[in-house]
Amino acid sequence: MRYNFTAEQLADPQVGPAAKAVRSCVHCGICTATCPTYVLLGDERDSPRGRIVLMKEMLEKGGAPTKEQVHHIDRCLSCLNCKTACPSSVNYQRLVDQARTHIQDHYTRPLGERILRWTIAKVMTRPALVRIGLLLAKIGAPVVMLMPGRLGAMARIGLSARPQGPEPIHFPKPAVVKQRIAIMPGCVQGALAPQIDGAVGRVLARRGIELVALDGAGCCGALPHHMGREHDAREWAKQAIIAYEQGQYDGVLITATGCSSQLKDYAHQFAGDPVWEPRAARFAAAAYDFAELCTPVTVTPPQALRVAYHPACSLQNSLKLNGVGEAMLEAAGFIVTPFAESHLCCGSAGTYSILQPELSGQLRARKLGNIAAAEPDVLVSGNIGCLQHLAAGAGRLQPILHLAELLDWAEGGGAAPWENPKA
Ligand code: SF4
Ligand code: SF4
Repeated sequence: MRYNFTAEQLADPQVGPAAKAVRSCVHCGICTATCPTYVLLGDERDSPRGRIVLMKEMLEKGGAPTKEQVHHIDRCLSCLNCKTACPSSVNYQRLVDQARTHIQDHYTRPLGERILRWTIAKVMTRPALVRIGLLLAKIGAPVVMLMPGRLGAMARIGLSARPQGPEPIHFPKPAVVKQRIAIMPGCVQGALAPQIDGAVGRVLARRGIELVALDGAGCCGALPHHMGREHDAREWAKQAIIAYEQGQYDGVLITATGCSSQLKDYAHQFAGDPVWEPRAARFAAAAYDFAELCTPVTVTPPQALRVAYHPACSLQNSLKLNGVGEAMLEAAGFIVTPFAESHLCCGSAGTYSILQPELSGQLRARKLGNIAAAEPDVLVSGNIGCLQHLAAGAGRLQPILHLAELLDWAEGGGAAPWENPKA
């Protein structure tokens, strides 16, 4: 596609890759069929191709974007199905990330939305504050359940949480340690489902991997990044990098696929920075997702359950780990039940389920309908955002677990996670 970016814009380490994405697009439209918002809305401006035009015009011109541009770019899930589908290798991620940053820096949103976005960036990235929010939501549950719009969506996701026990600080040590991996605590998962990291620690210990809590690290920065708050995202990244550099590890793990794809992209966040880019690149090269560290182990589970595995968009389109979770489940003796449209986003998409509750709810209903038609006994995924979002609308389609929780149970890790009396 022709563009008119200036030489200065092209030389910018953030705008340059966005401009390159615009130029690579030949406008063929092959990506549109894979785009969840285009599938729902059928509007060219809510397709990858239409958004590329909107983002090109916005970034080329600079300054304040139009309401229409913001409306359609905001509706993008950043699921990156379009990036995977594109035969011209258009790096849509670089373009949409830069567009979100531009909107954040040049567009004045209504006051209520600014407060909501600030709250997500400052509160949801801190587990202690999330716990307080959960407590308040539980106290006001009868009212909260009836609340419309974004606040209701946020509260209902929180209310679907069933945290079990405290966040683990210590992890089991294997008899023979093959790898010593630092584990980042993350943010919402520590408050909503601390039991996941416990299960991850046990599963990996059986494979000779010792986990060590990475003191000093917090959120990976994905939540502010999704809203174009790059300053906040970079501060979280720096915190994680500094913490990792203090010790000697064989890698760094975070147990949500959305977060691990964020860690692996740290170098780009600091592109052009002579101090931080190389440090971020070293950190990113050491980053692992659970599905990369965990190898299949053949066992016989207490019950040969039918399991639906929901592959998060971050797993499919960023980490490119398609089929890995299913292989582990099959080795663990489960019957993996395929379902229709598994490639389509469930509507969670970082902050999307809160900021775009209507479209997000439609995508969730579609996803849950497809999964229910496959009649699984258990639904499994590897991303806390998807797990909580799906649980908030799942009704009787339970239990919904992290992959590690089910593997832990199959491998003799104790009572079934959905029978825990504290649940
Ligand atoms: S498939 Fe690629 S080249 Fe074709 S319209 Fe989509 S982004 Fe552009
Ligand atoms: S990232 Fe997802 S929602 Fe956004 S344009 Fe691409 S396919 Fe559509």
